[in-house]
Amino acid sequence: MTFRSDGPLDTGGVSGRGGGRRGGRVAIGGGVGLVVVVIAALVFGIDPSDLLGGAGDYATEDVGSRGSDSSEIDQQIESCTIEKANTDTVCRIVATTNSLNKVWPGLVSGYQAPQAVIFAGSVDTGGCGSATSAVGPFYCPADQTAYFDPSFFETLQQQLGGSNGPLAQEYVVAHEFGHHVQHLLGADEQARRLGSKGAKSGSVRLELQADCYAGVWANRADDGPDAMLEPITRDQIDDVITTAKAIGDDRLSGSNSDGWTHGSSTQRVRWFSTGYQSGDPKTCDTFATNDL
Ligand SMILES: [Zn+2]
Repeated sequence: MTFRSDGPLDTGGVSGRGGGRRGGRVAIGGGVGLVVVVIAALVFGIDPSDLLGGAGDYATEDVGSRGSDSSEIDQQIESCTIEKANTDTVCRIVATTNSLNKVWPGLVSGYQAPQAVIFAGSVDTGGCGSATSAVGPFYCPADQTAYFDPSFFETLQQQLGGSNGPLAQEYVVAHEFGHHVQHLLGADEQARRLGSKGAKSGSVRLELQADCYAGVWANRADDGPDAMLEPITRDQIDDVITTAKAIGDDRLSGSNSDGWTHGSSTQRVRWFSTGYQSGDPKTCDTFATNDL
């Protein structure tokens, strides 16, 4: 159990969207191996202009509409309570967005909450084109919305070796909100100027900073009278570390760092831990150091 069971839950900022494709072609990996590679490239992706509108990186194939429709997901979201957030993945995403929207206004002046969309199978975004579940969770700066297909958590555990512990899943949500904070602060623009691939690229710096911001959130999420989380345990942090290691570039795509976009396992763990230990976003300046 991670969420305190006595708090209210606000489902207003989260909506369902699913089965949004009406034929047509979407970017998708071809075959299981490639799907994993696509996930590798895009897990926690940040640059939807590359991810979703980009040309040529991904095989395309026709996909039919699949998964739940949006009204089903909306019903699920509306039925969420804090208690359910401790057992149900959709409700856990909703509750985590609530916690994030409590923590960040105290850290970033003028913070405005992003929207969150939960989808199944595929989704038409408001500003970043269409995406399938194969891209993993992502944030679209153009519509300031974080997108989650809960089935990703199964992929993460079963195919990538991540943890399905609650805090590990919450870390995934917090990472995407980290990208929103970066968008508010202009870090995504800074990253774009520094390139999208390579060990010291803007993309790697941006992703590691989002991990650090997720750590900052975790530091504060169980702190104070308004905290939504029960005190975080060492085991829960170990779950986050298991997941952060599972999605490191070296683990997913090998030790040649030329193609890295998110940082190595060690770096991801390190930057999450930096944020978690400090609780201060100022310690997350991955743009100011070459010691990533
Ligand atoms: Zn990311």
